[in-house]
Amino acid sequence: AKHTGKNKHVAYNSLNKLTSVNHIQMETELRQAILENELILYYQPRLELSTGNIICLEALVRWNHPRLGLIAPNDFIPLAEECGLILPLGEWVLREACLQKVRWLEAGILNYQIAVNISPCQFQDEHFSDKAIHIIEKTGIDPSYLEFEITESSIMQNMETTVAVLDKLCKIGISISIDDFGIGYSSLNYLKHFPIHCLKIDRSFVKNIHSNKDDLAITNAIIHLGHALNVQVVAEGVEELSQLAILKETTCTTIQGYLLSPPVSVFDIEQSFNQYNRP
Ligand code: C2E
Ligand code: CA
Ligand code: CA
Ligand code: CA
Repeated sequence: AKHTGKNKHVAYNSLNKLTSVNHIQMETELRQAILENELILYYQPRLELSTGNIICLEALVRWNHPRLGLIAPNDFIPLAEECGLILPLGEWVLREACLQKVRWLEAGILNYQIAVNISPCQFQDEHFSDKAIHIIEKTGIDPSYLEFEITESSIMQNMETTVAVLDKLCKIGISISIDDFGIGYSSLNYLKHFPIHCLKIDRSFVKNIHSNKDDLAITNAIIHLGHALNVQVVAEGVEELSQLAILKETTCTTIQGYLLSPPVSVFDIEQSFNQYNRP
């Protein structure tokens, strides 16, 4: 993958706000963090509205920094993408999510799919699918438990390669969802060429669904597009009951958001969502 460095300022500024350490030092520390297991995965549940069941847990990475404490992904993923560390980081995330799923299977708990975020840099890496399949084989996870969340920008780069990669992943049983749907590209053409299982409506549309008629119209359109294409639609960032009520009316099938739960640690997800009963 090529890194143009066009996000340099964004990454640098957000890291600057976070800490006084400079860019190079942060990069060195992040490299160490991947090796020394300072990264951890939190999990956020996805709820199916028709049944009231949890159907999926999204793995979201955090950096447990020895001096700075827990660092949010938006404060180090851009840096990782810029300096190429996103490749080992992404592999760590996938391996850890697979291992966790295997642990849960062995314990007979939390029998849900696991969704893993795939950065565009990762997806464009020519070895991506081979590396992913290698990790899946090593960890022994049944790939049908896995969902890869990719963004529109990932798949619009090179359509031919994308079709080949997605077909390969799909064949072994991995589901594909389009993350942040609606904010990327206006072309919907790709939807008919690619094996996609799920559209995740970006939080920015869901946020004002109860007060802004344009956001409601867009959300509604995505939900109906999803039905027409026979794919799952997830509303992201659902925080309030008023939003949930509208989403039910618009026949949205699944939700994620603080209303149900923020992303939480393995310990907390085991406490709260094993044998989860309908709300
Ligand atoms: P995303 O994939 O769109 O993940 C959803 C983000 O929205 C998460 O932030 C989640 O905590 C937050 N969220 C969920 N429900 C609500 C809600 O009701 N209200 C609000 N205000 N926020 C909500 P988080 O965990 O900080 O992650 C931010 C972004 O960092 C992710 O956005 C994703 O793009 C990236 N990211 C996180 N983990 C990974 C990873 O393992 N690999 C890669 N490549 N990117 C990751
Ligand atoms: Ca995501
Ligand atoms: Ca998202
Ligand atoms: Ca996002």
